Amino acid sequence: MAGRVEGKVVIVTGGASNPGLGYASAHMLAREGAKVVVTDIDVEGAEECANSIREAGGDAIAIQQDVVNESDWQAVLDVTVESYGRLDVLVNNAGIAILKPFAELTLVEFNLQISVNLTSVFLGSQAAMRQLRQQGSGGVIINLSSVAALVGLSRCGAYSAAKGGVRAMSRSIAIDGAPDNIRCNTIFPGVIWTNMQAAAIGGDGLDSRIPTTRVPLARAGSPDDIAANVVYLASDEAGYVTGAEFTIDAGMTAQ
Ligand code: NAD
Repeated sequence: MAGRVEGKVVIVTGGASNPGLGYASAHMLAREGAKVVVTDIDVEGAEECANSIREAGGDAIAIQQDVVNESDWQAVLDVTVESYGRLDVLVNNAGIAILKPFAELTLVEFNLQISVNLTSVFLGSQAAMRQLRQQGSGGVIINLSSVAALVGLSRCGAYSAAKGGVRAMSRSIAIDGAPDNIRCNTIFPGVIWTNMQAAAIGGDGLDSRIPTTRVPLARAGSPDDIAANVVYLASDEAGYVTGAEFTIDAGMTAQ
């Protein structure tokens, strides 16, 4: 039986971290038939992700990439097209969080988070849009924002600003991409159990530390909760969905 994204060529940035949203998305996309280009600044992690996809019977390659470097984006697009002949979907997932009280955040830390979390999405979406237009095929851009873009969270000053920028820019990309059937949608994860989350709030007993007043379902999500949304948006099932926003946050922003 054909998978939900059978034959589609997908780039997933930040795919090295396990547990991580890019890693889980790359695996689920591959299980659903996609050919996956896993990129990360951590090339060993990206290779481990691609190897484990291949061992499971899927199709994947790994490329080292710093998502803030414009020439790295061109190289990723070139290798993708050389390897698989085309591009269908870009998942802008790579990100960093430097959580600090606002008054203590340095300009270097502020600029770094804007760069890795927002400028990267500009560079990647532009490179993908150009390739998709050249192909004349339409395509999909999926951007990872955060609930930090939607509600005020402590110690998230620069991170929130960057993720809010991703939200606003994604809607503009959706409008500019629409004439070429290039869809762009944004995902807002809540508290999902990954290496980033472990570093942010501690590595064990996570669920017991989640206040039910803040997270109505009273538990952390798994990376597959986000990967399932990535697969949906990448698939033709979402063919009429663009400029849309998906909170996957156990009710966090519903209150
Ligand atoms: P993670 O830290 O587990 O993984 C992020 C990956 O991005 C890592 O493999 C890292 O090496 C890579 N990366 C960092 N800087 C890079 C760079 N300059 N170039 C290339 N790769 C780089 O994070 P995660 O929890 O899987 O988060 C994935 C995305 O989802 C991020 O954009 C994050 O902000 C967002 N998000 C996560 C959560 C959560 O609860 N985990 C919540 C909201 C939003």
